[in-house]
Amino acid sequence: MSLSARPIIITGNWKMYKTIEQSIEFIRELPSLVKNDQTLVYLAVPFTAINASVKAAEGSNIVIGAQNMNDASEGAFTGEVAGKMLVNAGAKFVILGHSERRRIFNESNQFINRKVKRALSDGLQATLCIGEKASERDEGKTEAILEEQIRQGLEGITDLSHVILAYEPVWAIGTDRAATPEVAEKAQKFCRSVIASNWSQKAAEKIVIQYGGSVNSENAKALLEQPNVDGFLVGGASLSVETFAKIINTLSG
Ligand code: PGA
Repeated sequence: MSLSARPIIITGNWKMYKTIEQSIEFIRELPSLVKNDQTLVYLAVPFTAINASVKAAEGSNIVIGAQNMNDASEGAFTGEVAGKMLVNAGAKFVILGHSERRRIFNESNQFINRKVKRALSDGLQATLCIGEKASERDEGKTEAILEEQIRQGLEGITDLSHVILAYEPVWAIGTDRAATPEVAEKAQKFCRSVIASNWSQKAAEKIVIQYGGSVNSENAKALLEQPNVDGFLVGGASLSVETFAKIINTLSG
């Protein structure tokens, strides 16, 4: 397991799945299946289920968050949700820059940067997703893409203590083709070096870098053994409470 002093954070990203009732049922069941308290458990639930999930999680150590927000504090933006509204609903964190948002909704690094800033000033922890596409990896551009996404996504943010990075190679998301532990470690070590050279060595040592992309209960252990893998962002495998608990229990052997 990671020898660092960094916490292990495992985040479930439910995407556009689960009703309020399904969310409550999952959250009530999860603690009885979890065998260790060394892992921090986060759940990024749909907007509609945030408040009910927060209430269902009371008394447990499950942290509830959202999957997106707008960069403005409020305004005439039909269909958008503000960070302050997430806080008001009880959310503690928000996922920003997920590859599905970048690809399907054309989100740029600049837009994502404004959202990260807004999330932090609203008092949310921000999970910034970064990762290269298959074609970019094939062309040898992985490190350049990661560096650009980190530098532009976090531009102007001096204090990274409320930022989590999630390395999610696009080719590994929802494909059953997770990165090998070696590939994840190399990329995440590089991400940490980008933080060291653009922020500080101390910030680099402290920042939690999760791996995401087809994490399941079989591949979790070998990935988590890498020194620069500080947890996971789990999509598909977080939808079943049993499977998600198994991933959380990776640390208990
Ligand atoms: P996956 O998704 O675990 O289903 O590959 C990860 C993610 O999109 O965050």
